[in-house]
Amino acid sequence: MIYNIFMFWADKIAEDIKKRNFPLEWVDDMKTPSGRIHIGGLRAVTTHDIVYKALVDAGIKAKFTYVFDNHDPMDTVPNYLAHEKYEKYLGMPLFMVPSPEKGAKNYAEYFAKEFEDGFNKIDCRPEIIWSTDLYFSGKMNDGIKKCLDNADKIRKIYEDLYKKKMPDDWYPFNVYCPKCNKVSTTRVTNWNGKEVAFECRVDAVRWTKGCGLKEKISPFATKEKISGKIPWKVEWAVKWQAIGITVEGAGKDHMTKGGSHDLAKRVAEEILESPVPYSFAHEFFLVGGQKMSSSKGKGISVVELLEMLPPQLIRFLIVKTKLNQAINFDPSEKDTIPTLFDEYQKAADAYYKKSNEDLGRIFEMSQVGKIKKPPKIRFSVLTQWIQMPNMDSEIKKENLGEWASYARIWVERYAPESEKFTVQKSLPRATQNLTSKQRDFLKRVAEELDKKWNPEDFQKNLYEWGKELGISSKDSFAAIYTSLLGKNHGPKAGWLILSLDKEFVKKRFNEV
Ligand SMILES: [Zn+2]
Repeated sequence: MIYNIFMFWADKIAEDIKKRNFPLEWVDDMKTPSGRIHIGGLRAVTTHDIVYKALVDAGIKAKFTYVFDNHDPMDTVPNYLAHEKYEKYLGMPLFMVPSPEKGAKNYAEYFAKEFEDGFNKIDCRPEIIWSTDLYFSGKMNDGIKKCLDNADKIRKIYEDLYKKKMPDDWYPFNVYCPKCNKVSTTRVTNWNGKEVAFECRVDAVRWTKGCGLKEKISPFATKEKISGKIPWKVEWAVKWQAIGITVEGAGKDHMTKGGSHDLAKRVAEEILESPVPYSFAHEFFLVGGQKMSSSKGKGISVVELLEMLPPQLIRFLIVKTKLNQAINFDPSEKDTIPTLFDEYQKAADAYYKKSNEDLGRIFEMSQVGKIKKPPKIRFSVLTQWIQMPNMDSEIKKENLGEWASYARIWVERYAPESEKFTVQKSLPRATQNLTSKQRDFLKRVAEELDKKWNPEDFQKNLYEWGKELGISSKDSFAAIYTSLLGKNHGPKAGWLILSLDKEFVKKRFNEV
């Protein structure tokens, strides 16, 4: 079918998955909450949400979960936290590190909840699974045993993929040191089928020190106690099996040939003899061409993104972009945000006029809750309205309150100087340079102000009055802008003038 080539990407994936006819499809995504999670992680969770919703729309029974890897070690202190307070926790699993603020049980939970709040707002509502709970449940024990029993085969897989010799005493298990709590410093050196022998090495890593403990411990989890974790690439496969995941994509960095997904796939097939979930790779979400990092505090956080865009537009940005295309979002580029609003309105048109099926579907998938018709006014015009005095009632009347708040943020934070303007309280100096014809023009406009005008007609007449006086439209409008704003350009003059107090404008135009 030719149609398929142009089919919306998630519907295509759903169509593909539908063929295998599973009684239930289990979509999952995961993330380590090692710090404030940036919008890169948002692309992943939203992509999985879109696939999940496309499955449901295709009549497939589906479930959507999200694993927070709260047991990964803290390997760096983000630059927005006090280094001296957190240094001592380096190397410990994130769930053992204290939360930066009250209200969360630990560090991992604090940043995970912040991220969860963010993705909930853009209508991604997976069921949350904490990695530690997965271990406590006992569901990982079978995989732990298989991986330890087959440590030699797993070493071989690493060697095949990374072309690097693995030590013969390397085992796929990291113990949480019972003495110093660190996991980055422990090395398992033996496995007897019941217990692992391990050392907490003082110099295992450069960025934190182990305590030197040497002991034996059972690697298996009970309801009360977990003693460690499987290294994450191997663990990925064990999780697929323990949870029952059937669909899981990942960022392209994990999906390259010989990358972490290949390793997990081989562990699933060769060690666990368990099926590999349907997978897909997605490109990155970049800011100004750069990849972000949660632990380094680089990039835009989800909280910040939600301040600059309505949730539907954040979804739209991800929905509309094909998986193999990077999203390069740079709010400081002058057109980035206004263009996104324009495109969103076009997609809404396609949906309501049924003029473009794919674009309409993209609009539908971008919704948060019920389908909501966006305003008709262009965002760029709205950014002018909000800078004009006395437009509040108009904004309210047209029901533009929500978009107006984003327009205000854009003007405050991202708009170039050329897009900003303020009505000057006193006569701007630049008016000294106006010609006598320009002054006559302003007087003419002032005389007309006592009539009742609508902005469109008024705008047309501004051109006419200029023409009658023999000056170009450029010069007539420059006269208006100069006397009101102190600049030679501005928003639609008809609107601007009528938005102001009539007596104020009359006085100003006669004063020039
Ligand atoms: Zn230790």
